[in-house]
Amino acid sequence: MADHDQPPLAIGFGYDVHRFAPGRPLVLGGVRIEHPEGLDGHSDADVLLHALMDAILGAAGLGDIGVLFPNTDERWRGADSALLLAEVARRAAADGWRLANADLMIVAEAPKVMPHAPAMGERIRQALGPVGGGRVSIKATTNEGMGFIGRGEGIAAFATVLLARRGEE
Ligand code: MG
Repeated sequence: MADHDQPPLAIGFGYDVHRFAPGRPLVLGGVRIEHPEGLDGHSDADVLLHALMDAILGAAGLGDIGVLFPNTDERWRGADSALLLAEVARRAAADGWRLANADLMIVAEAPKVMPHAPAMGERIRQALGPVGGGRVSIKATTNEGMGFIGRGEGIAAFATVLLARRGEE
């Protein structure tokens, strides 16, 4: 239940990065994207949803995804991160939060991800379920050819969310 001694708004931040690996599907924002390589990880390695989950968990004070879904747990091997996001949303909603807005940033040299942003937004809103309803913005940039992202070794994502207490906004 909501703790009404707590402030009515809470901001959260999340960051994640995964390296490319051959023979893996590329899944970003819950959407399968055609690309020669996918991201390596215990789950489907959806770097955008992982950053979003950590931002929601951070705002709600509910830990982080490493605690909720440890990569040593066989249950999460190859997991659809949209299902993990739905569980994070369920927990935040159960604590009395709703999403005011989420601002998401993908940093990738390739592929171009913005053509897939509408589908990602739809999948994310579905997964957010009871905590959702707020605005979800998806943005993308390259790393201007610099560093590990610039060399095409992986993809990073950043997420900022604002949660509001239900009935107090
Ligand atoms: Mg991750």
